[in-house]
Amino acid sequence: MKRESSHKLRMYLCYAIVISLYLCTGETLRSQPNISNNEEQQSNAVDSVKSIHMAEMTWPDIKSAIEQGYTTVVVAVGSTEQHGPHLPTMTDTRIGDDLAHRVAMKLGHTLQASTITVGCSRHHLGFPGTISLKDETLRMIILDYIESLIRSGFNRIVFLPTHGGNFPIVQATLKEAQIAYQGIEIIGVTDLMKFLDCLNAASAEFGIKANESGAHAGEVETSIMMALEKNLVIKDRFAPGYVGLTGEKEIKIMWEQGTHALTKNGVLGDPRKASADKGEIYLNRLTEFLIQEIKEQSH
Ligand SMILES: [Zn+2]
Repeated sequence: MKRESSHKLRMYLCYAIVISLYLCTGETLRSQPNISNNEEQQSNAVDSVKSIHMAEMTWPDIKSAIEQGYTTVVVAVGSTEQHGPHLPTMTDTRIGDDLAHRVAMKLGHTLQASTITVGCSRHHLGFPGTISLKDETLRMIILDYIESLIRSGFNRIVFLPTHGGNFPIVQATLKEAQIAYQGIEIIGVTDLMKFLDCLNAASAEFGIKANESGAHAGEVETSIMMALEKNLVIKDRFAPGYVGLTGEKEIKIMWEQGTHALTKNGVLGDPRKASADKGEIYLNRLTEFLIQEIKEQSH
């Protein structure tokens, strides 16, 4: 029961959590694509592809890459929302951006599209700085991404939500798109429970309990942000937020009254055991998990 409650918690509340990414700070990877064997192979085969991030590329270079076999594109779906007094509002987006990059590098012959930086965060609107899309708005954005990316010439499009509140909408929208575009592989890693299980298992290895690793701005997300953006993490503000059980009653409070009704500082969990080293491990685990999920869904 406890485990179920914890899962629900994350699924409904957390919104944020999630995700993230990888080991080294993305900067090195961004400029140096050859990290794994796959990447070395693609680097040898296509010397002209200097970056895999389309926002950093010109249209002729994107066209050339697609013609040379870079026909898969990865898109993260993040959020802009409060993450307690110690993490920036871009937390889920930053994690998603880096995660998508790492996944694209490991998949090989894959480009990265601009991350969707705002998601469905209405339960966090009680805290200044949160910007929330309506479910229908996010659906339309995803469909517009898909239509545009297909016109560019991609034949496999992979969505990676990194904010809990986005998962259900991404999942439903991709099902809709899969029917509309049957000749295109449209994939998403949209099982939030599996995603959180991956993180919980990793933090448990350090003796950190699920209510500390937390659904929102707790140990997990804080560790990851320490690995990615240490200058934006305010350590002297680390403080526990809501660390009690989260059952249906608490979820109802969050939905009906907002996150602030459950946690005054906006944190679900406890960031005090966070570290950059653990963050790197969490990012690695997530990357492995995402790659596995994508491979299982691919034709
Ligand atoms: Zn988050």
